[in-house]
Amino acid sequence: MEDLNANGVRVTLLATAGVVVEYEGTRVMVDGLFKKDGHPFSVVPDELRKDLMAGRTPFGPVDCLMFTHLHPDHFDGQETIAYLESNPVKNVFLPACVSSEGCKRLIKWMDAHAVPYTPLELPAGGHARFSPGEGVEVTAFNTMHMGKRYGHVDNYCLLLGMNGRTLLITGDADYDSEAFARALRGREICAALVNPLFYQDRRGRAILDTVVRPEKTLLYHVPFAGDDAFMLRPVAKRLTERAGDAGYEVLALTEPGQQLFFL
Ligand SMILES: [Zn+2]
Repeated sequence: MEDLNANGVRVTLLATAGVVVEYEGTRVMVDGLFKKDGHPFSVVPDELRKDLMAGRTPFGPVDCLMFTHLHPDHFDGQETIAYLESNPVKNVFLPACVSSEGCKRLIKWMDAHAVPYTPLELPAGGHARFSPGEGVEVTAFNTMHMGKRYGHVDNYCLLLGMNGRTLLITGDADYDSEAFARALRGREICAALVNPLFYQDRRGRAILDTVVRPEKTLLYHVPFAGDDAFMLRPVAKRLTERAGDAGYEVLALTEPGQQLFFL
């Protein structure tokens, strides 16, 4: 099974917005290290977490860890330290800690253990490009977080260039069309990962349809069965079924360990 689509991009869902992206032997984990407290979303199931923390295929070894923002359904400092204790990585991309104590503890720990990291400190709408290692190139841009209540929270969209293929990971991005346009200029996106709210909102859809124009849109940040208090699973399912005229395929990442492959 391991060689199936070996030349393609592979996206493996951990839980919520946690994914491992792999292409030609380069692996990046985004928003995959978090805990149960402080949010209503799903966490990585125990068995899967064991493999993840042990760096076992298909979850590791990972080249880079990245975080779109520091909300507890995307990030936990202690869990990240636990991961780094047994998994060396080339770089850790994370937003500036601001008031996150967990983030500050993680920074201290990474300093003490000489783990390379890149704090993201861009103004709203700003973008920057990084080359953390062979086979990976990252453009991060700050759209801020969606929703009035969280509008002051930095949310970094990540344009992940892996050996020539580019994925867009949006976390909980707000609808800042110009920020998307500036960061994406001329880039061909093989897959865009967005949450169902972004996809359902006409502003989010307009960004996808006219600015991003991905080959595929992957809906993520959907709870697992049993955790679905917001009834997002049926919403995601309906959105994939009605996507006929979108100009790109719409798929949903909804199961722990689920993998999507594409060329
Ligand atoms: Zn979230």
